[in-house]
Amino acid sequence: GLRGNKGWAQAWRSPSPKPEYDAIIIGGGGHGLSTAYYLARNHGMTNIAVLEKGYLGGGNVGRNTTIVRANYFLPGNSEFYSHSMKLWEGLEADLNYNVMHSQRGLINLFHSDGQRDAFARRGNAMINQGDDAELLDREGVRRLLPYLDFEQTRFPIYGGLLHRRGGTARHDAVAWGYARAADQRGVDLIQNCEVTGIDIENGQVRGVQTTRGAIRAKKVGIVVAGRSSQVAAMAGMRLPIESHILQAFVTEGLKPVIDHVISFGMGHFYISQSDKGGLVFGGDLDFYASYAARGNLPMVEHVMEAGMTLMPMIGRAKVLRSWGGIMDMSPDGSPIIDKTHIDGLYLDCGWNYGGFKAVPASGWCMAHLMATDQPHEVARRFRLDRFATGHLLDEEGTGSQHN
Ligand code: FAD
Repeated sequence: GLRGNKGWAQAWRSPSPKPEYDAIIIGGGGHGLSTAYYLARNHGMTNIAVLEKGYLGGGNVGRNTTIVRANYFLPGNSEFYSHSMKLWEGLEADLNYNVMHSQRGLINLFHSDGQRDAFARRGNAMINQGDDAELLDREGVRRLLPYLDFEQTRFPIYGGLLHRRGGTARHDAVAWGYARAADQRGVDLIQNCEVTGIDIENGQVRGVQTTRGAIRAKKVGIVVAGRSSQVAAMAGMRLPIESHILQAFVTEGLKPVIDHVISFGMGHFYISQSDKGGLVFGGDLDFYASYAARGNLPMVEHVMEAGMTLMPMIGRAKVLRSWGGIMDMSPDGSPIIDKTHIDGLYLDCGWNYGGFKAVPASGWCMAHLMATDQPHEVARRFRLDRFATGHLLDEEGTGSQHN
């Protein structure tokens, strides 16, 4: 339909790599692109490059189920995701790009008295952080989501925690918006450029080896999500990260039916409806370590069963596509934004199933770290050494199942 249009300029340049940069970001996903953008915007560093082995946005940033929320509980996570939500709320104006951020409200269902207590506690923590939360009883959920099966007895719906500012954003647009804005500030975005080695001399990073030649740099940030362990190994590091598959599904386009994001944690199922009309849903990990960006049938069956339990009407919809992404799973479910023991080498990883909502704040904090060598206030607990010292941020339950 757009074939008649002519003379459209490319949204960003396609430069050849220079021999040297002040800083290099490895990985052109959401986090790498936002790091580059905020390095330029907040810290005036523009002699920088993002090196992407494939194409921009081809990784998890374009594979997720697009949920954006600030409903974490633990100090450390809570202020970080709260910061991220505020950045989301100004993102379209900041990037001058429509990322289709839709604060349609997220509802986490609960199914027992004990779970209600846990969600009430979480809601109080969210309100203390300055974010929003409302505890709904069964009738409150029924008013908003009348199509759920309130008669099923396996997981009877007791109520839900409503987070009105939660919602979705168009994932590709987020990558494209950051890419264009970074390019406009002079950042070189270099695609089809795989980093194959990290050059280190006397404990100081000197640059990287790539499929397009060696590139020198004073600072290098590893921001490669599911490939974090492999790239860090190039610097001789063994990370506490496992790579696992998470699948997602989308149905044919339907008329508007689901106008919230619904999280059914007990069934490991969550769902929303895209602007195009597809029901977008997913479940839990496939639970084996792998670098294949596709999953297997047992999890497909599990997710479909959970969907049928929650809302039997979904059985009428035809699934159009499914895919998988490689998750960088940390042992405590929380991320790492930290320096390494090598001067000038920085790490941003461990986003588990929930790093899309973190894209703005992760870039903001990683840029702060790379520019100033100091952790940003809201990311100071995302230390790599916490797995050795025992200062874990154990919030796996919030990261998982609910995205
Ligand atoms: P990526 O987009 O994967 O970026 C990393 C990039 O590094 C890739 O483009 C890769 O090609 C590149 N790279 C790797 N190795 C090299 C190398 N050697 N040289 C150069 N480049 C390299 N999060 C949410 O908040 N909400 C959700 O609803 C949600 N749902 C999800 C559903 C699914 C199915 C999946 C897969 C993920 C979901 N997530 C969600 C998680 C979120 O997508 C990720 O945590 C986040 O996108 C990871 O960061 P990224 O965007 O930088 O990763």
